[in-house]
Amino acid sequence: MAFDFDLFVIGGGSGGVRAGRVASQNGFKVALAEEFRMGGTCVIRGCVPKKLMVFGSQFSESFIDAKSYGWDVPTHPTFEWKNFRAKMHDELERLEGIYRNLLKNNDVTVYDSRAVVKDAHTVVLRDGHEVTAKTILVATGGHPVVPDFEGSQYAITSNDIFLLEELPNKILIVGGGYIASEFAGILNGLGVEVTQAYRGDQILRGFDDEARKVIAEGMVEKGVDLRLNTDVAKIDKVADTFCVTFKDGSEETFDKVMYATGRRPNTDGLGLEDAGVALGKSGEVVVDDYSATGVPSIYAIGDVTNRIQLTPVAIREGMAFVETVFKGNPTKVDHDLVPSAVFTQPEFGTVGLTEEEAAAQEPIEVYATTFKPMNHSFAGRPDRVLMKLVVSKETRKVLGVHIVADGAGEMIQMAGIAVKMGATKEDFDATVAVHPTMAEELVTMKEPVRST
Ligand code: NDP
Repeated sequence: MAFDFDLFVIGGGSGGVRAGRVASQNGFKVALAEEFRMGGTCVIRGCVPKKLMVFGSQFSESFIDAKSYGWDVPTHPTFEWKNFRAKMHDELERLEGIYRNLLKNNDVTVYDSRAVVKDAHTVVLRDGHEVTAKTILVATGGHPVVPDFEGSQYAITSNDIFLLEELPNKILIVGGGYIASEFAGILNGLGVEVTQAYRGDQILRGFDDEARKVIAEGMVEKGVDLRLNTDVAKIDKVADTFCVTFKDGSEETFDKVMYATGRRPNTDGLGLEDAGVALGKSGEVVVDDYSATGVPSIYAIGDVTNRIQLTPVAIREGMAFVETVFKGNPTKVDHDLVPSAVFTQPEFGTVGLTEEEAAAQEPIEVYATTFKPMNHSFAGRPDRVLMKLVVSKETRKVLGVHIVADGAGEMIQMAGIAVKMGATKEDFDATVAVHPTMAEELVTMKEPVRST
């Protein structure tokens, strides 16, 4: 049977665009459908605008610190959200254009339309037009979810933050994950009065406990009103504000309530189950190590598979898919030792096992130090840095690196290479320190602080 295309990609996010582009570069006929804006979550309403907001929010501290370094700055510098927002959206449009051009210049046919799977080789566009392809790649990403409770319709999500007409004076952020914790820092830095409510004992569940504590303390130090073991019972709209009743019965009024309580895969109404593709309990497309579904012509990558919800992982999954399906080189995606950064303030970079995970697995040594870095110490700022290595007693391999510091995201990228290569503590020790830096502590810690 002759198909219209060799590959039809549904979803123009980081993973889908990369897979489509590379398949086309290898001589295959490719189409891609995107129902919203090219670039997906990362470019349009995730990593990119978030990071720009992190940069913007950090100036409030820089202005204060500048005085300690001899600069004469106004006592109350002001931030104009509308000016920043306009420039941020210009940048997103520019990046969206780059993504579109990448596809165009690589001869990928783009449909600005929703596409739904009809059967193993057919998709239907919004206008009813049917397109056939030898292989279909589902790369539709995910969306934020707000749990169902009285008044939940008043909650906004991270999608809405980038589009706000005005910044609220006072916001409640619910959740203790990446998004809630990052936006608590961002909005606090931009001058918003931030309360973060998390239902558990400590934010950033699943990460290294010591690091979580240092981050939470740093956030509180910077002004976030962090309320642990706290959850919302209901929200009432009162004029232009929102009265939140917490589960302990207390009430408080906020200008906005933002929920960052996880994301769900975008598979609703996509026709996958009718086409024979299995979905998991969160609606995710069930795939094997090669991103293949149970239907031989249908694959899925990125957040829609709910494996690791990170852009570079989706891109890798897209590349491995192209290798497997179009280059005759079956390639599993390597999900082991993925370094990542959480752009909280203070920033967090992490790779490998937490102390808790490692200790449950084998005898370990922990090398850790917390200190006030030179730049903050000089400025009289209390911020503390954490540098931590989790080391196997038996193999001496560094099983995990956890850094809480300015630039931790940049540092962990480099430490990630060493850990991925299987570096031992002695390899770290054999590396000469770069002085004066914070990261030099990673190669100068001599004695373990704990041993199991
Ligand atoms: P996360 O899964 O990280 O966090 C969800 C949070 O919401 C948890 O604290 C969870 O609590 C809480 N929660 C879940 N359900 C409820 C509920 N019904 N009521 C109250 N609280 C609830 O999700 P995010 O939305 O923060 O982020 C989604 C994903 O996006 C991340 O997992 C990450 O992979 C990716 N991401 C990555 C970033 C980066 O790399 N820097 C930045 C932003 C997002 P509990 O812990 O108790 O379950």
